[in-house]
Amino acid sequence: MATPIVAIVGRPNVGKSSLFNRILGRRQAIVSDVAGTTRDRLLGEVSWGDYRFILIDTGGLEANPEGTVRQKVQEQVGLALADADVVIFVTDVAEGLTPTDEVMAERLRRTHKPLVLAVNKVDNEARELGATEFHQLGLGDVVLISAYHNLGIFDLMEWVVAHLPPPQSQEENEEASQGELKLAIVGRTNVGKSMLLNAILGQERAIVSEVPGTTRDALDTQFSYDGQDILLIDTAGIRRPGRVAPGIEKYSVLRAVSALSRSDIALLVTDATGLATAQDAHIAGLAWEMCRGLIVVVNKWDLIPQDDAESRGRAVGAVGERFHFMPYVPVCFTSALRCWGIDALMQTSLELGQERWRRVPANRLQHVLIGALADHMPPPVKGHAGQRLRIDGLRQVDVNPPTFLFTVNNPQLVHFSYQRFLENRLRASFGFDRTHLRLVFKRRG
Ligand code: GDP
Repeated sequence: MATPIVAIVGRPNVGKSSLFNRILGRRQAIVSDVAGTTRDRLLGEVSWGDYRFILIDTGGLEANPEGTVRQKVQEQVGLALADADVVIFVTDVAEGLTPTDEVMAERLRRTHKPLVLAVNKVDNEARELGATEFHQLGLGDVVLISAYHNLGIFDLMEWVVAHLPPPQSQEENEEASQGELKLAIVGRTNVGKSMLLNAILGQERAIVSEVPGTTRDALDTQFSYDGQDILLIDTAGIRRPGRVAPGIEKYSVLRAVSALSRSDIALLVTDATGLATAQDAHIAGLAWEMCRGLIVVVNKWDLIPQDDAESRGRAVGAVGERFHFMPYVPVCFTSALRCWGIDALMQTSLELGQERWRRVPANRLQHVLIGALADHMPPPVKGHAGQRLRIDGLRQVDVNPPTFLFTVNNPQLVHFSYQRFLENRLRASFGFDRTHLRLVFKRRG
């Protein structure tokens, strides 16, 4: 099942990014700046009770940051329209109802998506009264919040999850493990995504079982490879390269988000002659933030004069440098044009898929934890009166990606470097070489 997408929209300065940061909580601070760029984080995965969804701050996705407010607002609505499952429309009680709010409300009303109006900066009684004017917008549900003071966020989140599709139960989840592997082909234009798609489907081992257009998205293709059912998710528009207009790359970011949200593994296609650009890193960062599997495909390898260990090593080095935040990502070399390397890419996908569904035995997990603590005790934490992290338990609570729940005395005592130590221990102990792992720290009880 696709992870649902919740989009935050609103005119500039109403507090969208404060709300985004508030909902994401402290994870934000840990993983910000992940793609090595200075951009703010725009997207994150949120768990709320049994629900999991992807939260997007559309304000940061504007194609044209210098544009007029009107343009920005239109773009945001466009983005929300395209891919969100639930929309949070933020307004500012201190400024009151503005004509831009009205224009936006009018357009949002037509989306017919679950829509909640979050009136922000409501932090005293006078403002609470002031908030009533927003009912004029006639948008239905209104929640009063203060992102800054952390007021009303619980109510807002309860509203949001009530309008999401029901979460998958554990059994369904287990069942899904026997189901199809979902691969999304993502990347910049002209790197050879369409050609790669055709090269994959043209393999002898690929048995295309359905006519395209029968699945949820017309661009999805179902087939089986070496007996494994696969759904190939194509990013919209890539079969029509002629229609890609300037300024569209940002839109394609949300397209990529949408494809990623429905996938298990992203095949990030790059061009051997222009490796690991900032845009590539951006998409890789999205996959990382969404906990998806990732394989970097270095396509057009036929254009490299020497195909030897040295040039491959150089390419792997360049990719590693750019994607240093995910050192475990496999790199595959292909020529979609000549149909080289396609089988190796598919085998890597199948192996990564198996790693992502792996469950490790509970008793071995205990041993690994005890061993890790014995080798490296959590150090006292500065700023917390020298307190130490105490880990009381460790369980694997999910797959795809493998997710480990640490029960601790205080999650705030988890230092980034200690978390990385634990992650590396899990990787080494259980052979998680290529997948993203998710580590969650919760207070006991
Ligand atoms: P997309 O926009 O990512 O879907 O890229 P396309 O699949 O439309 O390919 C863009 C261009 O790159 C086309 O002219 C292809 O012929 C060319 N191309 C794609 N894959 C390869 C490859 O492996 N080697 C070479 N030399 N050219 C390729």
